[in-house]
Amino acid sequence: MKFYSTRNKNHLVSFKEAIFQGLSPEGGLYNPEEMPDLSNLFNSMDEKTSFVDSSAMFAYEILKDDLSAERVQNICKKAFPFKPEITDAGDNIFILELYHGPSCAFKDFGASFLAASMEELLTGDDRKAIILTATSGDTGSAVAQAFFNKKNIDVVILYPSGRVSNLQEKQLTTLGGNVTALEVRGSFDDCQKMVKEAFLSKGLAALPLTSANSINLGRLIPQAFYYVYAINQLKKKFADIIFTVPSGNFGNLTAGVLAAKWGLPVKKFIAATNANKEVPEYLESGIYSPRQSVQTYSNAMDVGNPSNFERLKDIFNDDYKKMGEMLVGEWVSDDETLDAVKSYYKDKRRFIDPHTAVGYVASQRYARKLSGSCAKNSAIIALSTAHPGKFLEVVELATGVKQILPPQLEKVLSLKKESVLIDNTTEALSNYLLEKFS
Ligand SMILES: *Cc1c(COP(=O)(O)O)cnc(C)c1O
Repeated sequence: MKFYSTRNKNHLVSFKEAIFQGLSPEGGLYNPEEMPDLSNLFNSMDEKTSFVDSSAMFAYEILKDDLSAERVQNICKKAFPFKPEITDAGDNIFILELYHGPSCAFKDFGASFLAASMEELLTGDDRKAIILTATSGDTGSAVAQAFFNKKNIDVVILYPSGRVSNLQEKQLTTLGGNVTALEVRGSFDDCQKMVKEAFLSKGLAALPLTSANSINLGRLIPQAFYYVYAINQLKKKFADIIFTVPSGNFGNLTAGVLAAKWGLPVKKFIAATNANKEVPEYLESGIYSPRQSVQTYSNAMDVGNPSNFERLKDIFNDDYKKMGEMLVGEWVSDDETLDAVKSYYKDKRRFIDPHTAVGYVASQRYARKLSGSCAKNSAIIALSTAHPGKFLEVVELATGVKQILPPQLEKVLSLKKESVLIDNTTEALSNYLLEKFS
């Protein structure tokens, strides 16, 4: 399978080129050229198929021009020592917990697969890569964990000094080895600008810089794996399966849509957002009006102009009615989010994080719209995108209860921060990179 750029359909690249490029040269996003029918493959799997096996079988269909079945299996095995867990939340709503990876967020699936793919593809190639990425918190910790100790790969992560949470900062700055954290005297926007300019800089052209941000195809594809796995677990019990996806940049949702286009039996996707509701509005009206983001409790979804929207629109040939047949939008307020964290704890004695709560509220709302008989054979699977321990303050605000952190998070808190403080200029970044890597 080849991949084309959303800004130039004639520009076809291999999976390998796509993942080392990130963005296409025209600034577009890569999408798969073909929409193969993988129904038979999906039918051949069931609840006993392991996450690694179902992921490798599916990935091989997409990557077989680039990699043998054995190498794909290897990548999946290395990438996924963790897997999704499903809990029954009652009333035919299930929570798909995607937070059992090293950084405790669903981004671990994408980052880990990308890292394992890059390492595999660089093997025997006598090439090196330097991953350069800016983070406002969550992405950086998943990327750092995923690329830690990978052969022939160095990682440089920029984050805004004093503007990420203590836990996030510890996750970024305590790995050492091939991971360097640059603490920038400036904002997240400064960090992003510096990274963008570094990629364009002639002075840095000799360095093998590559990105690992969420538009990278190598992060997108593995985000389809857990939809396949979840369907395998529940398809014998329910005729119709609906997924709810708490969304910000819409990479997670786009991956699910691709799997459905390739024959995964998904009845519908609920695109759940916080008050940054430009996509639910588009689904309602056909009018897309990107804007400045507003701050909410589910801050990893505070996005006013989602970077994957271009990709999503392209998959539906810019036909908003077609998109509406597969997606329905629901947006959820901060008050509803807090209420949901609180009532979930009260009813089930379990914590959910604010992003998961957005999806849960949207799921309940949609369940009420389904009529009685249909609801019996229907399941809604709500994706849970972060461990509640990553959002201690909000969860405590909602429930009045302090959580015990999972061991992965507890451990980093006691480690010593190591970062390199730099100014918020591209020159400062260039100087650092040239000194370290040439
Ligand atoms: C990144 C993130 C999201 C949003 O995912 P997108 O793929 O950008 O839509 C939701 N929840 C959490 C916890 C995240 O970190």
